[in-house]
Amino acid sequence: MPEFRNTFSGNPLDREAARRRDEAWVSGQQAEAETAFLPLHNLTFPMRQVEGVMRLAWSTLPAGADTERHPPLLLGTSDGAARFAINAAAAPGRFELPDDATYMDLRAAAPLLDMDDTGIAAQARAFLDWHERHRFCAVCGASTAAAQGGIFRKCTACPAEHFPRTDPVVITVVIDNERDRCLLGRQASWPAGMFSALAGFIDHGESIEDAVRREVAEESGIDAVNVRYHSSQPWPFPSSLMIGCHADAGSADIDYDEWEMDDVRWFTREEIRHALSLPAAQLGEPGLPDGALSLPGPMAIAHTLISAWANGRA
Ligand SMILES: [Zn+2]
Repeated sequence: MPEFRNTFSGNPLDREAARRRDEAWVSGQQAEAETAFLPLHNLTFPMRQVEGVMRLAWSTLPAGADTERHPPLLLGTSDGAARFAINAAAAPGRFELPDDATYMDLRAAAPLLDMDDTGIAAQARAFLDWHERHRFCAVCGASTAAAQGGIFRKCTACPAEHFPRTDPVVITVVIDNERDRCLLGRQASWPAGMFSALAGFIDHGESIEDAVRREVAEESGIDAVNVRYHSSQPWPFPSSLMIGCHADAGSADIDYDEWEMDDVRWFTREEIRHALSLPAAQLGEPGLPDGALSLPGPMAIAHTLISAWANGRA
């Protein structure tokens, strides 16, 4: 296990890789009394406060739900009881939930949500979204159908099988050890004053280290050397895996691409520590005084990576 448990990681469910091969077992689980269903409405989640903590709110499968068009997707089991995610459109308005449950956007609600539940929600959101967007075969264009509780989709006309994909993203804090400062950048669409670690998708045929060196060079003109892995984070918007790294700076002069970045700067440890000392509620929020540095909040792996460096653990 990584030293840091990032939000959306550590899903406690047993994904049941072996038992889900038995289609009869999977469909039998849908009728078990202990089984619970998580209905997603336009990819938002039912949640409610339980003893002061936000938790996912589970339901049962309404009779007559359209499970052909919206198959229940087997997330796994918890203490032997099956847990499914399903599109609420399978039975509009008919999933029974506690009176105090409301549908919430996962990105907005994640900082409030129980840590184990963030892991379950990350799996459910990426899983359901992928199924909804892969109803047709990319090889022949015929319709596809979920298999083994949704772990893949089979084409109904050709032999193709399609597996849910995860898109790897490298995210890096580059450190200038000599001057005790780190490199952060911002995009024009972010709130004023917000800076974060440099990030980008891994290309085909690239190692993690290759991608870090390329992304850092593209976004800042800095040579990244001595790339080292820190921790990772599922990011289900829609289906990324953030691979968090630190690297040392092999050069000092910033030269960024204005098409990609709004600003890229070196920040001293003191500046970073000051920004991190702001109340958690202000992190990642707009409305700071002009010129103040704002950093991503604790739910983002960027926060983990920046904090690790600021506290001498990079
Ligand atoms: Zn096909």
